[in-house]
Amino acid sequence: MNDLNNTYADLFIAQKANRFAIGNTTYKERIAKLIALKKAVEFTYKDKIRQALFDDFKKPFTETDLTEIYPVIGEIKFAIRHLKSWMKRQKVDTPLALTGSSSWYVYEPKGVCLLISPWNFPVNLTFGPLVSAIAAGNTVIIKPSEMTPNTSKVMAEMVANLFNENEIALVEGEVEVSQELLKLPFNHIFFTGSPQVGKIVMQAAAKHLTSVTLELGGKSPTIIDETANLKAAARKIAWGKFLNSGQTCIAPDYILIQEEVKEEFVAVLRAQLKAFFTTDASASHSLSRVVNTKHFKRLVAHLEDAISKNATVEIGGKTASEDNFIEPTVISNVAENASLLQDEIFGPILPIKTYKTIVEAIGYINSKEKPLALYVYSKSKKNTNTIIKNTRAGSTAINNNVLQYTNHNLPFGGTNNSGIGKAHGVFGFQEFSNMRSVLKQHTKGSIEFLFPPYTHLKQKFVD
Ligand code: NAD
Repeated sequence: MNDLNNTYADLFIAQKANRFAIGNTTYKERIAKLIALKKAVEFTYKDKIRQALFDDFKKPFTETDLTEIYPVIGEIKFAIRHLKSWMKRQKVDTPLALTGSSSWYVYEPKGVCLLISPWNFPVNLTFGPLVSAIAAGNTVIIKPSEMTPNTSKVMAEMVANLFNENEIALVEGEVEVSQELLKLPFNHIFFTGSPQVGKIVMQAAAKHLTSVTLELGGKSPTIIDETANLKAAARKIAWGKFLNSGQTCIAPDYILIQEEVKEEFVAVLRAQLKAFFTTDASASHSLSRVVNTKHFKRLVAHLEDAISKNATVEIGGKTASEDNFIEPTVISNVAENASLLQDEIFGPILPIKTYKTIVEAIGYINSKEKPLALYVYSKSKKNTNTIIKNTRAGSTAINNNVLQYTNHNLPFGGTNNSGIGKAHGVFGFQEFSNMRSVLKQHTKGSIEFLFPPYTHLKQKFVD
């Protein structure tokens, strides 16, 4: 581990030595780098990325294009369009008491950054934040997840071909690699992963007072009230939940539905899932697999635990260990102490829980940690507003899910247990920047009442 330690320390020292050169680049120079990255993702490496993700967890090519390639390209295009204005000095008013001076702030790069990414959307969640880091003028060491090794390998090749390692470097490896990197005094850490590991990252960061962005997870609720268009809701939820086989941080984790419309909703959801994946989902080319045996076993254990506590499997339920396959599964009557209702599910299992009143649904959500996303399906403005006003969440979509992620004008991130800080567009740029305030005195004179001796006259002025 000492060797590792030295390698990373050397890399860190090289980036630190280079940070002003990178930090003082113009917007045009940064845009040139973003264009190179865009070209690599969009053309040169597109097929390799698709194949790697298929090899890692049978992710369908179309899904890779929609959820890995296009979001990164979109983030790059957006940054290119706006970078000049983001980097501009921001002039602010100066109060009368400071007459003779002017004031502004600038977004200066944080410096040497660490980017730790997860496996579930490995390209999107590595290169997405990287775009913001480059736009803000930082150097970056990237540690992708060890759970999608084929994709990490392709990304390592891309980064090595596109950048000098004293500017951007990608290191592959197991958790120990992250642990070693976390010992270094980075200027900023951008971490995407679980709340459990987020706490480890924050503790390590505290040793150096390193700032952090934590993009975490949790249980994102979906409320469906009695006024909702059930067919439309079922179609969107069947997509948002089973996309990536449910391994999406903002996927609906569980449904809270008004009890009178539950049966009808289950029926339309069943029909929708059949339309998406046929009656034999294992043969569908539109469904990824669970990422590995460890997660497959974890999900099967959730299912068995719920069934042993008298839950009802409404849809699906088939599993195949040789392929890490879990059929899109919908389950109701889940006991409150079942692990399905306690832990983040992160897989293709959707519990449905009924409620009688909106107040009851809100109370249930607020009895848990603040979620990364909260979804509402309703035609009632009153219900929607009541839910939003009386809950807290990183983001919300009304009569839709997941798509809030794709609007670059919206900040993306959680709150408390689901995260700290925001990503995407200008918010990502700001996250990787320090807002540096500048006050410039223009006249030769100064504000005399500040200086001793504090005479009666000065006291009168202050009064
Ligand atoms: P994870 O927390 O297990 O791992 C994330 C990264 O941290 C990986 O690169 C891993 O190597 C590293 N890591 C793991 N254990 C570590 C340790 N002890 N010390 C240092 N580094 C360590 O998460 P995951 O399984 O890759 O991803 C799933 C989680 O991520 C879910 O909770 C999901 O909701 C969340 N997530 C959040 C977002 C978001 O944008 N908010 C996006 C995707 C996933």
